[in-house]
Amino acid sequence: MSQPQTMTAPFTGITIALSKGRIFQDTRPLLAAAGIEPAADPECSRELIIGTNRADVRLVIVRASDVPTYVQYGAADLGVAGLDVLLEHGGDGLYQPLDLQIAKCRMMVAVPQGFDYQAAIGRGARLRVATKYIRTASEHFAAKGMHVDLIKLYGSMELAPLTGLGDAIVDLVSSGGTLRANNLEAVEHIRDISSRLIVNVAAWKLQRARIAPLLDIFQGAVQAA
Ligand code: ATP
Ligand code: MG
Repeated sequence: MSQPQTMTAPFTGITIALSKGRIFQDTRPLLAAAGIEPAADPECSRELIIGTNRADVRLVIVRASDVPTYVQYGAADLGVAGLDVLLEHGGDGLYQPLDLQIAKCRMMVAVPQGFDYQAAIGRGARLRVATKYIRTASEHFAAKGMHVDLIKLYGSMELAPLTGLGDAIVDLVSSGGTLRANNLEAVEHIRDISSRLIVNVAAWKLQRARIAPLLDIFQGAVQAA
């Protein structure tokens, strides 16, 4: 029987899944500490697989919320994902050895300025809450004993209360500028968010000799930052 034909030779090195934007920018110095320089800038390049100066390391550029999926199934060995995304994903098949202390923000409940959130809770109002973070939000409100109707969105949560789609949102806040620009205010802190290094569980066992030194360097760079 003939060998199956493959278009490209299988890559036998380490594949790291990253998303464009702040995660890529904040991960760059950590990669540099490990002597890894990306061959292209994903902000400018249309390439989704980016080589590095190391033949045994490549990057794949995916949506932030897809990073855990690539790592879970071993399409990437390592990845960098926000805790917000990891909480929604659930973490199956992932080892989460390191808080990289990057892309820091807070997950908050926000409402239109002047809306008395505490009074609404006090009278047991059933709020409609729009969010991308259904799992985290439902755990948060359940823990408070609040019954809410969650509305799933994929982005621009700030728009929901302005258009009557919801009474409140659960979203990430850093400076609060986006909330203010949309006449919203944060009324409840759910949790602090930062990005984590994630590792495919099988890769961690089978490629430990290659992955562990990288992890040590990242850890050193995080502590030095
Ligand atoms: P996409 O744009 O592909 O839908 P996204 O909007 O989640 O995905 P980013 O906005 O780049 O992608 O956010 C990526 C990660 O950065 C988030 O998962 C979160 O952990 C973190 N993050 C998001 N917003 C902020 C913020 N305002 N400040 C700091 N970190 C943030
Ligand atoms: Mg975005």
